[in-house]
Amino acid sequence: MTPAHHLDHSTILAYAAGTLDEAIGLVVASHLAWCPQCRTAVRAAEALGGGLLDQLPAAAVSENCRARTMAMLQGASLHRFPAPAVADAAVPGPLARLLSVANLDDLPWKKKAPGVAMYDFKLSPTAKGQVKLLRIGPGRAVPEHGHGGEEVTLILGGAYRDHIGRFGRGDVADLDEDIEHKPVAEAGEDCICLVAIERPTRFKSIAARLMQPLVGI
Ligand SMILES: [Zn+2]
Repeated sequence: MTPAHHLDHSTILAYAAGTLDEAIGLVVASHLAWCPQCRTAVRAAEALGGGLLDQLPAAAVSENCRARTMAMLQGASLHRFPAPAVADAAVPGPLARLLSVANLDDLPWKKKAPGVAMYDFKLSPTAKGQVKLLRIGPGRAVPEHGHGGEEVTLILGGAYRDHIGRFGRGDVADLDEDIEHKPVAEAGEDCICLVAIERPTRFKSIAARLMQPLVGI
């Protein structure tokens, strides 16, 4: 798989620094499982971070702190990314680990609007954002909306188009709060997206705002 749309540089840096929220971190890790280009970018960002740490002046720590840190390093894995062997699996590894079913069709999808169904993930209580699977029927549109925060979407199946372009399987739409868009699923098959939202989405039209509590994004 060779995705055409990738993560933003600021998202890559935040992931490498370990500062992304659980919700967006899940979608980012899922794209990384499928995208060698972004994996390379994360490794470069991690090397940059390591270089910056190296330049910090040394600080004395207690013997106990030093021993605990060295023990953690001994136990750390160098393999943060899922093995490339899963690169073409139906669902990327980081997402598959959260699912209790082998097939996305078997999830308890909730119908939210004509042609639109959704599945909500339960994250840990400290998570600030939300993660959902969205299934948009062929030719169906999600109402035009802004985000009020970052929204990162990974396409798992099918494709959609908006004013930015065509997003197909493996592509990621990494949108900041200034971008408004109206995705329309392509004809032929459902478009299934994994969506992380930092804060609730802000729909533009009054009709869409009224629908928002029903759609839940
Ligand atoms: Zn990528």
